[in-house]
Amino acid sequence: MTTTTGELNQIADGLGRLVRAGQSDTGEIVSISVGAYYVQLLFNHDVLYAEAVSNVYLKGPERLSAEQERRLLALEWTKPSVPCDPRCRRDHPNFHRLWQRKTPWPDVVRDVVMTRVPAGPQPTGAARRAGGN
Ligand SMILES: [Zn+2]
Repeated sequence: MTTTTGELNQIADGLGRLVRAGQSDTGEIVSISVGAYYVQLLFNHDVLYAEAVSNVYLKGPERLSAEQERRLLALEWTKPSVPCDPRCRRDHPNFHRLWQRKTPWPDVVRDVVMTRVPAGPQPTGAARRAGGN
């Protein structure tokens, strides 16, 4: 397993490299974390599968608020316990989503970073949104 941690811009850089490598190496797992929050990517034959931690694994003040959960759904994550595929029999205790294996890696990086992994501290540095109203 490869784990990347750091500021969001560092995460995005590292993630880009790992996604490019993973797309040619089935079975690779990439984990991105900010404190208790993490996203894991699993490179399968046809798809890239990702999970984002849910309240099943978060405690106390780290638990996701209803608003944070709605934000994940708005970002196209699938609710925990909803099958990823009609034939899937696995439990999905975390938020999850799929990309086609051939999805351009910058799109995957953007989608993952947009989750803010998925509810951690405000982004800093290059990833910070310009201030204002
Ligand atoms: Zn599934």
